[in-house]
Amino acid sequence: MLSVLAQGPEQLRWFVQGVWLPLALLLIAVVAGALLLVAWVAGRWLLWRRRVRRARRAAIAARIRADGSPYPPEDQGLCDRCSRSSDRILFLPDGRRLCRDCYDVVVPLKSVGERSSC
Ligand SMILES: [Zn+2]
Repeated sequence: MLSVLAQGPEQLRWFVQGVWLPLALLLIAVVAGALLLVAWVAGRWLLWRRRVRRARRAAIAARIRADGSPYPPEDQGLCDRCSRSSDRILFLPDGRRLCRDCYDVVVPLKSVGERSSC
């Protein structure tokens, strides 16, 4: 490398333009590509994390009523009250089967004062 410096300014210019400039451009391109890749992966990860959080919140909201009490277990069947068939029929402990609309009518939401402390 020092021998190039000793061969004069013309050789030095050729060496810088022919070797170091392409190497520097290549290095810049590689670094920029790596940064873009990292940004893309981070963006995808943030989107995935947000989707998981929303799905988890929706799943919890689907199992819990507005007053915080849980819905009874559900499966497909016929509603005893409106005779609609659904794959989300709630099976009450007393043996009744109700769809969510009828359940909300038959079993009213507890007010704040009625809520159990546990
Ligand atoms: Zn019903």
